[in-house]
Amino acid sequence: MTDMRVAVVGGGAVGVTAAHDLAVGGADVTLFERGAVGSGASGRAAGVLYDAYAADADAALGARALERFRRLSGTHGFAFTECPYAMVAREGDDALAEAVAGAAERMRVHDRPVETLTGDELGERFPTLRHDDVAVAAVAGNAGWTDPGSYVSAVAELAAEAGVELRTDSEVAVATTPPASPSRTRPR
Ligand SMILES: Cc1cc2nc3c(=O)[nH]c(=O)nc-3n(C[C@H](O)[C@H](O)[C@H](O)COP(=O)(O)OP(=O)(O)OC[C@H]3O[C@@H](n4cnc5c(N)ncnc54)[C@H](O)[C@@H]3O)c2cc1C
Repeated sequence: MTDMRVAVVGGGAVGVTAAHDLAVGGADVTLFERGAVGSGASGRAAGVLYDAYAADADAALGARALERFRRLSGTHGFAFTECPYAMVAREGDDALAEAVAGAAERMRVHDRPVETLTGDELGERFPTLRHDDVAVAAVAGNAGWTDPGSYVSAVAELAAEAGVELRTDSEVAVATTPPASPSRTRPR
């Protein structure tokens, strides 16, 4: 146990995850959410999840998140469905085709399973997908989808079980002026 007290502001995917992990680590955590948990972007997201990012930190974060989704899947009303993620560029859009092929190349630097396919190869792999006008596709293998709201609800539940105090309908005021300097607040 630590004697650390932490206030987390925002009950979206990021806030509930941070609150949960801090509480599991022994902190005394209160989470403040101005509406209901999941009422922000996390409740509106498409729910496409993958780790094929070009930047080191993004790829590592994505990989860790996917491990968490797989562990959590099937519990607390949350399900992560495995499904490849494809980015495509249509014929005639040379700039996009170059960008998609280049992005796949950069993603492979992190040993991510990302393939570059022609339109025909894409059609062979996914016969129900329309591919006649696809010039190039990048297909990431470590990917899937979920209902993002269900992730927030599940982790909020786990956070509460770990001891987090969840305060919904509790907006935290954002300071618009900088705090007084320490010398002016020191008791005389
Ligand atoms: C249409 C759409 C589709 C998306 N699709 C995807 C996708 O397919 N895959 C993907 O990975 N990402 C996707 N995203 C991005 C993803 O939704 C966000 O990156 C993620 O939800 C951010 O989580 P968060 O917890 O930081 O923010 P939020 O979920 O927005 O949570 C922030 C919370 O803070 C609360 N809050 C704000 N200010 C205060 C305050 N002063 N006091 C108290 N509470 C406060 C808000 O009410 C809110 O609930 C999508 C986003 C949108 C909008």
